[in-house]
Amino acid sequence: MTAPAQPQAVLEIGLTGGIGSGKSTVALLLIERGAVLVDADAIVRQLQAPGQAVYQSMVDRWGTKILDQHGAINRPALAEIVFNDQEELTALNDLVHPAVRKEMAAQRAEYASGKDPIILDIPLLVESGHDDLAHVLVVDVDPEIAVERLMKHRGFSEEDARNRVASQASREERKEKAGFIIDNSGDQSSLAQQVDAAWEWILSLDS
Ligand code: ADP
Repeated sequence: MTAPAQPQAVLEIGLTGGIGSGKSTVALLLIERGAVLVDADAIVRQLQAPGQAVYQSMVDRWGTKILDQHGAINRPALAEIVFNDQEELTALNDLVHPAVRKEMAAQRAEYASGKDPIILDIPLLVESGHDDLAHVLVVDVDPEIAVERLMKHRGFSEEDARNRVASQASREERKEKAGFIIDNSGDQSSLAQQVDAAWEWILSLDS
């Protein structure tokens, strides 16, 4: 007699990389190939919207200097504070991370009933110790290329771009955690080919 088939748990893959490495671009390419996405940055933005508890705690700590004229979080003003002072960055993470984890867990639970691989786009995966993830996909790029792309496509000043890149985990720390590494130092078509290879890797994994 054959045992009844066990329901296969859905695959979860952490996606990370430094700012400007191309994570968001890779996430979109993986969705095109059939993945579903839990996007930590999008969750952060949602939790920091006016009226949310996280928003209120941030205003309680830093006051209206982190708000724009419409009362929304002024990201450059906040970045100015936290990316120049480790203590302030830690305080921000302490305010935001627990709520982000809770919302991510809710979205993961929702997708877990489907069958599509779940991509967890977590910019600070290495820094924030998401050690529960069995599979990690890292997008790697020379920091100089990341700085160049942030200035060219995302409107950063050179100083801001360099500070943001410098405040994150090193490439080596990140790559140590990787099950698969995408090298995004080439053009978009080279990136698409590597995402194809990453997708093959994902489909070969056991959850
Ligand atoms: P991240 O989400 O890691 O911060 P993005 O995916 O937003 O990075 O990429 C940063 C910028 O670089 C975006 O404007 C993106 O379109 C661009 N980009 C990403 N990969 C490439 C590439 N291979 N060639 C040229 N531009 C790229």
